[in-house]
Amino acid sequence: MIHMFVKVVKGNMGTNKSFKERFQSLVDAFSERLPSELYEMALLLEQLDKNGQTGQCLGDLRKRVHKLKGSSATFGFTSISQQAKNLEALIDEVMESSMAIDLEKKNAIYESFYKLQNLSEEPELDADPEELEEIPAETIPTEQWPRSEKRIFVPTDDEYLPHDLSDQLGFFGFICTRFQNLEEISTLIARGEQVLMIAHTQFLRDCPKERKEIAELKEIESQRLKIIYLSTDDDFNTRLLAVQSGGDAFFSYPVDIGNIVDKIEGFTQTNQDSPYHILIVDDDPEQVSFFALQLQQAGMITSVAVNPRQVIQILDESKPDLILMDMYMPECSGIELASIIRQHQAYMSIPIVFLSAETDREKQLKAISFGADGFLTKPIKTEHLITSVLTRAERTRSLRFFMERDSLTGLLNHTKLKERLVEEVNRADRVGIQISFAMLDIDFFKSVNDTYGHLTGDRVLKGLSRLLAERLRKTDIIGRYGGEEFGIILLNADPKEAKGIMDEIRENFSRIKQYSEGKEFYVTFSCGIAGYPDYTVPAELNEAADKALYRAKESGRNKAVIADHGAGKDSPSS
Ligand code: GH3
Ligand code: MG
Ligand code: MG
Repeated sequence: MIHMFVKVVKGNMGTNKSFKERFQSLVDAFSERLPSELYEMALLLEQLDKNGQTGQCLGDLRKRVHKLKGSSATFGFTSISQQAKNLEALIDEVMESSMAIDLEKKNAIYESFYKLQNLSEEPELDADPEELEEIPAETIPTEQWPRSEKRIFVPTDDEYLPHDLSDQLGFFGFICTRFQNLEEISTLIARGEQVLMIAHTQFLRDCPKERKEIAELKEIESQRLKIIYLSTDDDFNTRLLAVQSGGDAFFSYPVDIGNIVDKIEGFTQTNQDSPYHILIVDDDPEQVSFFALQLQQAGMITSVAVNPRQVIQILDESKPDLILMDMYMPECSGIELASIIRQHQAYMSIPIVFLSAETDREKQLKAISFGADGFLTKPIKTEHLITSVLTRAERTRSLRFFMERDSLTGLLNHTKLKERLVEEVNRADRVGIQISFAMLDIDFFKSVNDTYGHLTGDRVLKGLSRLLAERLRKTDIIGRYGGEEFGIILLNADPKEAKGIMDEIRENFSRIKQYSEGKEFYVTFSCGIAGYPDYTVPAELNEAADKALYRAKESGRNKAVIADHGAGKDSPSS
């Protein structure tokens, strides 16, 4: 009598080309671009010779040299980078001095440039390529148990497990499939799939042979196999038996299904919900690709901006966790761009990390005083880049979590939900999609509190938020509006579709067994729905959904009602 729950893991980030191959093609592109880069520099130097005016062309030259210092170091051309650094220092000397450039200094610059040119003619990779080694797979965070796969394997003969376990799990979207013997499980594991098993401890007592097999399988496959034991007994010996049989969790009867779902969620989440999203801003296309490649390798998602003007739009659209930014770009410096980003209320706290060849401590500090969160210098080792980015992204996520989330349910709080509603209405307006806003309020919740106590009431609230999180699409936005009210933004759904979804959740919720000190009871909710573009102003959309909710309550509760936007009547259902 084993219940099986299987989640299938898709293969590891599949790219046909290896990291080394992709890296090599970036290095090749860089080497090919070198001669034209040097040619551009030579043109600037020529101007220096023609007119005695040093200002503009020296400044432009310095930018190019600085860029070359960084990119050549990134790709492992250390001597080129070193020579660029020398040239940059000479130019700085002239630029910082108030006196006009003299022949001696001019010659020094020329000499340094020719050296750079010579080195660039046949560029030699001199950094240790081992430093750019692929990072080992175990340091790459992957989502172990994707949420989308929700198969549960149930044995054909089951008499000890709660008779309605599959039904109750089914309300949360888990599908139960029966299985015959343990071999099916080891086969799935051998195929690389993740298996979660729910069994009754009586099974362990009745079937010592299977018990031994499970323990052995768990011993070898502790990550791929997760086991939850349920038991009618709650004594030390039974718990010990469960532990010795590889149990990851133990629940005694009566079983609160919500706790099991929570446990499964715990297995499904590694340290992160979805991969970190990093925006890289750098005007050098090869370097951007190179940093993107390294971060992708570590399981992160990357967006790229080679033009500072694209940055705000990308921020609006993709909400990255961190920005990795170059210091010097044409048109606008990294510091200026950071200030522009900080002018936007929504991006006050997004971490900005500079990745630059700038080694001048004072300039680095200046960048930090203008709102940067860190400074990394090129060249940077893959591992260092990844750790620096990961730790900052992690910190921002958890800070953001506490600022934006409700502590009881973990859903978005009232403020954040309303903020998102405004954002999503604006976005829907821009891209021309329909969205719906659903407001939901638990029926007679006061009497739940009065009858079973506040703690039980809290458990019901948590249970409903869990159900919403499990049943809605990942892209939908769920918030606790207040007390026993919730708000949901359904993207790409008109009110009719939203009603279909909410009705299904409503029916499932009404059939979930709630427990309080051995007593069972059921709870329902009512729901009001309004849609964009029926309502184009966020506040009106919100109000319309609220009014529809009121109608749902008025007309008998446990139903969903669509806002009456035209002349007709609201349409209740249940
Ligand atoms: P209706 O069907 O009309 O919505 O009736 P109701 O009893 O649900 O509505 P009412 O607004 O009268 O009561 C809401 C109750 O929700 C009162 C309040 O004590 C309870 N409540 C609000 N927040 C929490 C919470 O965080 N935990 C618990 N346990 N109860 C809460
Ligand atoms: Mg209420
Ligand atoms: Mg209520």
